[in-house]
Amino acid sequence: MLEELKKRVYEANMKLPQYGLVTFTWGNVSEIDRETGCFAIKPSGVPYEDLKPEDMVIMDLEGNKIEGRYNPSSDTPTHLELYKAFPEIGGIVHTHSSYATSWAQAGRGIPCYGTTHADYIYGEVPCLRCLTREEIDEAYEKNTGLLIVHEFKKREKDVKAVPAVLCKNHGPFTWGKDGNEAVHNAVVLEECAKMAFRTELINPQVKPAPQELQDKHYYRKHGANAYYGQKA
Ligand SMILES: [Zn+2]
Repeated sequence: MLEELKKRVYEANMKLPQYGLVTFTWGNVSEIDRETGCFAIKPSGVPYEDLKPEDMVIMDLEGNKIEGRYNPSSDTPTHLELYKAFPEIGGIVHTHSSYATSWAQAGRGIPCYGTTHADYIYGEVPCLRCLTREEIDEAYEKNTGLLIVHEFKKREKDVKAVPAVLCKNHGPFTWGKDGNEAVHNAVVLEECAKMAFRTELINPQVKPAPQELQDKHYYRKHGANAYYGQKA
């Protein structure tokens, strides 16, 4: 079932090594079919060069494996909680991409220092707290998802305006309307993380870009008054 979805998710996964976002088998992409309530995700621990579209695992939102000969990615419960909480999310990516993960390990959100960031992500990319011992022991991956959901709701962050998060001492998750857009946002995040790091090296006293500049760049590409690009 969902052969087209599996093919799309396979292709999205293969973009992670192509863009230099993953090493070995680290990282995974999923995409949900909202009509059936099922999502396809990369299998756990299978090297990218051996992956085939039919290896993608189909899961439902109760965590049942619907189809696939492999076990799903160990991060599947995180993806599941995000899909359940945010109907506007259609695809999710997790990587340990080097620069974004460095910010996560340092426990710092990525400030918006310029328009490259503002074009895609509204404001800082938040870095969440580390999970507690109980949360880690009880259900690590599920609790990672629940923490993201809880923090985005508490901070009243719109997942469409902030399509990325850093999990402290771990790494980034990004999302989008589908798997492809989530991969795109993972590439953008890594590039912004790299530039923000260099920005602080060059000027340790640097401040985020002026709010009006951030607003201009974000809202000319997003929302009701967007005018960037070509009209469909
Ligand atoms: Zn991870």
